[in-house]
Amino acid sequence: MNDSAKTKEQLIAEIADLRQEITHLQNDKSPQDSYKLTCEERDLILTQTGIVVFVWEARENWPVGYVSPNITQFGYTPEDFYQNKVLFSQIIHPDDLNRVRAEVVRYNEDSCREFDQLYRIVTVDGTIRWVEDHTIIKRDQNGIITHYQGIIFDVTERKKTEIALFESEMRYRQMFEAHPAIRWLVDPETQQLVDVNPAAARFYGYSRAEMQQKVVEDLNVLSPEEITAQIAQAQTKKVDYFEVPHRLASGEIRFVEIHVAPIHSGGRELLYAVVHDITERKETEAALRQTNRQLALLNKSIEELNATLELDHVLTRILNEVRFLLGAVACSIWLVEPETNELVCRQATEPHSQVVRGWRLPLNEGVAGWVIVNGRSLNIADALQDERHYKGVDQQTNLVTRSLMCVPLKRQQKIIGVIEVIDSEPACFNEIDLSLIESLAGTAAAAVENARLHQQLVNHAAELEKYVAQRTRELVAANTQLKELDQLKTKLIEDISHELRTPVANLSLYLDLLERGKPEKREQYMLVLREKMQQLIRLTEDVLQVFRLDLFKGDVVFQTLDLNQIVRDVVWDHRVQITESALHVELVLGQRPLSILAEKKQIKRVLTNLLLNAIAYTPSGTIQIRTELNGTQNEVCLAVQDNGLGIAPEDQPYIFDRFYRGRNMAQSTRYGTGLGLSVVKDVVALHNGRVEMDSEPGTGSTFRVWLPLA
Ligand code: ADP
Repeated sequence: MNDSAKTKEQLIAEIADLRQEITHLQNDKSPQDSYKLTCEERDLILTQTGIVVFVWEARENWPVGYVSPNITQFGYTPEDFYQNKVLFSQIIHPDDLNRVRAEVVRYNEDSCREFDQLYRIVTVDGTIRWVEDHTIIKRDQNGIITHYQGIIFDVTERKKTEIALFESEMRYRQMFEAHPAIRWLVDPETQQLVDVNPAAARFYGYSRAEMQQKVVEDLNVLSPEEITAQIAQAQTKKVDYFEVPHRLASGEIRFVEIHVAPIHSGGRELLYAVVHDITERKETEAALRQTNRQLALLNKSIEELNATLELDHVLTRILNEVRFLLGAVACSIWLVEPETNELVCRQATEPHSQVVRGWRLPLNEGVAGWVIVNGRSLNIADALQDERHYKGVDQQTNLVTRSLMCVPLKRQQKIIGVIEVIDSEPACFNEIDLSLIESLAGTAAAAVENARLHQQLVNHAAELEKYVAQRTRELVAANTQLKELDQLKTKLIEDISHELRTPVANLSLYLDLLERGKPEKREQYMLVLREKMQQLIRLTEDVLQVFRLDLFKGDVVFQTLDLNQIVRDVVWDHRVQITESALHVELVLGQRPLSILAEKKQIKRVLTNLLLNAIAYTPSGTIQIRTELNGTQNEVCLAVQDNGLGIAPEDQPYIFDRFYRGRNMAQSTRYGTGLGLSVVKDVVALHNGRVEMDSEPGTGSTFRVWLPLA
């Protein structure tokens, strides 16, 4: 026991790098005995520090020569070792034993004096404890190892922390290294990429080493000022998310989202960025936005098209919106014109609308013609390579058409036109664009048709209005005429009753005289009676004639007649009167038959009245009847000229009025009814002719009747 106590004291004195408590133990070697620690005090210190002191024999499995009592912290007692129940190698963890052995062998051979080891020991209850071991090799004068002195102390807690730290470090490294997401570490000061993971290198197309040579500006296509501003925002944690365009090694631009946070690493502040490629999402979003806008346009257009018949206005708006949405250079609408069978540009977008609008193409010309004939849409990537493309319009607008979409406007299986969208760049339009135009085309076609129908209705209504106005005018005129006729009839009846009154009164007077007068005068009375009867008969005939003309205007039957023949007939019919009058009737007739379209009886009445008037108002002399052709006017003229009494100027304006008798009537040889010339006027009017009179009192009168040549 003394030996072991001594050994313990020596051991404590020899360990140079023990902790502070051990340093204190070293001080025990001081010569001042008063400072020497008792064995109990030293054991107490060892117990409190947890340091276990060992002396191992230099034999296999290291039997223990001495162990401090605080070995009990591992569940063993010193006695366990002293009685060789337990050898030191037995408490070393089997996984570490070979290493520990090998190390000891190496240290022994290296002739070193002391060494440190780290290994696990297994406690009595089977728990595993990490210990650090500081061992001094003791040799005799010949350098043969006699034994080992050393201490072990429990470092399990520190080891656990180290392991945890290591595992954590490993975990985070894995997350950085092996994660498929792109990760960077950036120095915010220099903007240098401090580190990137393999996923980043793969994405950008550089080697990892190349990436680490880059600064943010080499990847981010934003301006240096914008990049600096974003880094500052990330450093201050104001913003931790960015969406920016990045350039790859290939030059391709991809949209990425960056989640960024400042971290401390290696004593400096870095930015840790996780990057995701969101190009496809962005493209999908853009496509979706575009589709949404297109659908909105479609909706709006359909509403507008359905709501109005102002076709040009609506078409202009639609075309402009389509051009804007598809980013196209120009749009136009062409309609088939059924009258000419041509394709006419109905509307086009600015700035060429003036040039293109109204442009005409034959139905089989150009891409539009092809679409009309085939009834199918076309989406041509490059019109320059397409023979169907008609270049005429391009030449006028100075626009080179490359991309060309053409969609038919269909209405009830009939193609009424096309919508054309063009661009000066090739391959601008995709299938979605085409289907948008196709959807629009359906409504546009309906709107065009509606507008056309509306226009037809408007035209029809205008015509109807004109017709109604015309008919109204005719009816008003007819009404006026009827009223006038009615007034004339009333007047005629009044006149007739007035005219009849005198002869009827005369008749009644003479009938009375015949009955009650002197019988010797009966002969005379009879003569007068007969004369009055004749007058009454003539009056009645003339009145009837007037009535007939008025009542049967529509029933007259016209036929082609020779005016010369009419003249001859009438003169023959009145040969008795002519002979009795002792007047010379001279006929001067046109050379050839003068055909007129006339009602024979009526036209004979005209000449009869004029002839009988001439006889009645010409005491002696000649009556000349002439017919002639007025070639230029396509008229024939019938003239009856006498050298009789003539007509007083005061009477001349009225002689064609009914019942008007001139003042020369008193000198006439014949009873006048005042109806003869009015009949002449009416009959001539019925034959679309005219009558003129030229007269001078004492010289004679000439009546000229003009009738159209048949
Ligand atoms: P009437 O039966 O009185 O002849 P008309 O209508 O035939 O009726 O003629 C109207 C008037 O015109 C006559 O009263 C007469 O004053 C005048 N008149 C017609 N023809 C002649 C004529 N050839 N010469 C002179 N006066 C005429």
